[in-house]
Amino acid sequence: TAKQCGRNGYSIYDTSMRQRAERALTIQRGLLTAIEDGSLSLHFQSKYDARTGAIVGAEALARWTHPELGAVPPMEFIAVAERSGQIGRIGEWVIREACRQIEDWRERGLPPIRIAINLSPLQLNQPGLVDTAARIVAEAGSDPSLIMFEVTESMAMENAERTTLMLQNFRTRGFEFAIDDFGTGYSSLAYLQKFQVRQLKIDRFFIQALDEGGTEARAIIAAIIELAHTLAMEVVAEGVETATQAELLRTLGCDQVQGYYLSLPMPPDEFERRCLLGAPVSLPL
Ligand code: C2E
Ligand code: MG
Ligand code: MG
Ligand code: MG
Repeated sequence: TAKQCGRNGYSIYDTSMRQRAERALTIQRGLLTAIEDGSLSLHFQSKYDARTGAIVGAEALARWTHPELGAVPPMEFIAVAERSGQIGRIGEWVIREACRQIEDWRERGLPPIRIAINLSPLQLNQPGLVDTAARIVAEAGSDPSLIMFEVTESMAMENAERTTLMLQNFRTRGFEFAIDDFGTGYSSLAYLQKFQVRQLKIDRFFIQALDEGGTEARAIIAAIIELAHTLAMEVVAEGVETATQAELLRTLGCDQVQGYYLSLPMPPDEFERRCLLGAPVSLPL
């Protein structure tokens, strides 16, 4: 058991704790130079119109490769960045880099699409976030309506009163919002209405459950879609992995679909070639 000591006096438990702590420290140190050394990048994953298959937007997803650890998943390095007080700097870089990409595509005459940027809970709680985001976007010369921020349902509901005010403030500056991972937290419907966000993204847990018989998942998804439409929101299904899921979602009236079945997250050049310049995806009809 974890209590029994190994040869060197460390229990197995302690050893793995120590390894995890060391990894976190390596990540923390690596992040200090990640922006300057160019090891941080953004990948883009398309969001498609569920009926026509036309691309309607893309989500920016942070990618980081550490020289020794290799690719570190965003869930992991974002968590470390939060704990080590680096999330402000890294979050700002994500907004700056997304704007730079938007401007690069615009200058080269590519069709404009709305880019979704994920915000972490700590970022959302930073007092100056709205001003900072507005300043970065203005400096880049970008149109704020081309930016959609994604916040998870749990984050938004944690301090719903504060979130309402913040979203109002963001709206005044022309930014759009989406509620991410919807259905896994606890929502106050009153606040959901007050938030006035543009999109609701159904958590992929429900989409995946569609495959296993899934009558319950189907009923829940149908209810979420109806709720969203009642509140004048668009609904996006995330984590769509099969043709069956895409087809069902379309018949249920889901507005947009995103997932590996349609398109993987990819580096900007590949995204540009395959998604911005490519034909609409063909959806099962
Ligand atoms: P999220 O915002 O819910 O993003 C969706 C995640 O699902 C992404 O994982 C994406 O690659 C993955 N995904 C997309 N399609 C499918 C599919 O069909 N099946 C499955 N199983 N997964 C799919 P990723 O890139 O590893 O990001 C994980 C989370 O890390 C994100 O969840 C988001 O919360 C966070 N994250 C990523 N980039 C950033 C960032 O720039 N800033 C912040 N604060 N968080 C970020
Ligand atoms: Mg997201
Ligand atoms: Mg999500
Ligand atoms: Mg998620």
